[in-house]
Amino acid sequence: MNIHEYQAKELLAKHGVPVPAGHAALTVEEAVAAAGKLPGPLYVVKAQIHAGGRGKGKFSELGPDAKGGVRLAKSLDEVEANAREMLGNTLVTIQTGDAGKQVNRLYVTDGVDIAKEFYLSLLVDRATGRVAFVVSTEGGMDIEAVAHDTPELITTFTVDPAQGFQPHHGRAVAFALKLTGDLNKQAQKLARHLYDAFMATDCSMLEINPLVVTEDDRLLVLDAKMSFDSNALYRHPDILALRDETEEDPAEVEASEYDLAYIKLDGTIGCMVNGAGLAMATMDIIKLNGAFPANFLDVGGGASREKVTAAFKIILKDPAVEGILVNIFGGIMKCDVIADGIVAAAKDVNLSVPLVVRLEGTNVEQGQAILANSGLPIVAADDLGDAARKIVAQVKQAA
Ligand code: GDP
Ligand code: MG
Repeated sequence: MNIHEYQAKELLAKHGVPVPAGHAALTVEEAVAAAGKLPGPLYVVKAQIHAGGRGKGKFSELGPDAKGGVRLAKSLDEVEANAREMLGNTLVTIQTGDAGKQVNRLYVTDGVDIAKEFYLSLLVDRATGRVAFVVSTEGGMDIEAVAHDTPELITTFTVDPAQGFQPHHGRAVAFALKLTGDLNKQAQKLARHLYDAFMATDCSMLEINPLVVTEDDRLLVLDAKMSFDSNALYRHPDILALRDETEEDPAEVEASEYDLAYIKLDGTIGCMVNGAGLAMATMDIIKLNGAFPANFLDVGGGASREKVTAAFKIILKDPAVEGILVNIFGGIMKCDVIADGIVAAAKDVNLSVPLVVRLEGTNVEQGQAILANSGLPIVAADDLGDAARKIVAQVKQAA
């Protein structure tokens, strides 16, 4: 789950991380009032969407010369004019896709005089199974380009979970940023606070770009992005409350209401599978046969007919889906229940794409009979390989 910049900064501030003062605003009036509470005379008006690259982004409704989603303002009048232009309009950045995202919320912050911009992030490094620090003096700009063109300017190290954060980790961050004197000390302290915040919230990614040194020699977090491990959210009701469903894929939100693990992908073959491992294997074998999955969908071990119907409808709502592969192993779940759900959903939505079903396990004969007698053009498959070959062939034939 992702949260907005203003939420991330409020959360980090509670852990002692230095951030500029600021207030969120939903209307032009609120934006002006927010600025009124800040010392001025420099303010920053920032679009709050779940995507980076806002500064260089473009508003679809405004001309090509209009400013992006992060704007400096030198008076309350300028704050008002910028808020008026941004709210309700669509911001397109390198991370939003062409459709962009509507700006419904602004964050008005204290403007900072920047001396230097750095990059600093923490993330779960799956290769080592540890939390990694990624640090670079080249902040503010596209870190992917830095990683590609000048990887030597990025320092990475991991923290042993058994030992936790040690003073040498703080020194490593300060050294990588080439900071001396008091700024060096600030960096060490910041690194510890960030690590503590990361661990305390079951964070999966915390990215600060830029981390800045101000003209008056303070280290400040100017932009923050945080993602959390969804599986750990049950123990963080305060973080779960920060969820903004308007920023999420509507299909994923609907799926979460039915407790379905659904992730939208770029391919054309919709998949409905029970069990995450089987779902991964199904996606792999679709790729092996030359097509791409349109989604990851795990209906879970004990799915009901309602859940299967909901899953089926969610898959079919995706206009990119050209065919569906259902791959179910009926262990706890019974094949006839699945078959009932498939038939009900397919009739409900007027199935318009090829459907291949592979059922195996408990009550498989009853399940297959339900499918065969449904009057629907469902193709039965014997095993996983057979199923993948059949759905890919069906989709190619239809194209
Ligand atoms: P992003 O484009 O979505 O990553 O948004 P950021 O919050 O990182 O802002 C983009 C850029 O705006 C930063 O890299 C800074 O160069 C600039 N910026 C943001 N806040 C301030 C500020 O307080 N003062 C100044 N001078 N520039 C700022
Ligand atoms: Mg940024």
